[in-house]
Amino acid sequence: MDSLTDILKDKLKEKGFKLTPQRRATLDVVFGNKGKHLNTEEIYGFVKEKCPEIGLATVYRTLQLLEEMELVSKINLDDGCIRYEFNTHDDDHQHHHLICQSCGKIIEVELDLLDQLEQEIENTYKFKVIDHKVKFFGICSKCS
Ligand SMILES: [Zn+2]
Ligand SMILES: [Zn+2]
Ligand SMILES: [Zn+2]
Repeated sequence: MDSLTDILKDKLKEKGFKLTPQRRATLDVVFGNKGKHLNTEEIYGFVKEKCPEIGLATVYRTLQLLEEMELVSKINLDDGCIRYEFNTHDDDHQHHHLICQSCGKIIEVELDLLDQLEQEIENTYKFKVIDHKVKFFGICSKCS
């Protein structure tokens, strides 16, 4: 048994859920497609290859469960789809997304870059910043 399965099993147990092949397959798909920001339908398509009997509603519920367990993060890039990505827990704050308005490509910015802004917000508004979701819309290098 690998560590991802162990983590999933432990988290499910905490919530009183069992590890099922469907839940395992759903997490595998999101984990195996890091940086691709798959939407619910795309994830469903991949999970179906392993679990042909699974329905879209089950995948949808499983993704919500995985999000509650903080194994995946939901991202909304304003393109009408709900997308998910594996939660790396490497850093506390979510990375930023650059969205090309010509080809739809999504580029990840791993650096936070907002430290100074966060500090100013904390000082000015006495508001402790815990996380943020930043999207930049523009044109990628291939399209410009
Ligand atoms: Zn930050
Ligand atoms: Zn582009
Ligand atoms: Zn991302």
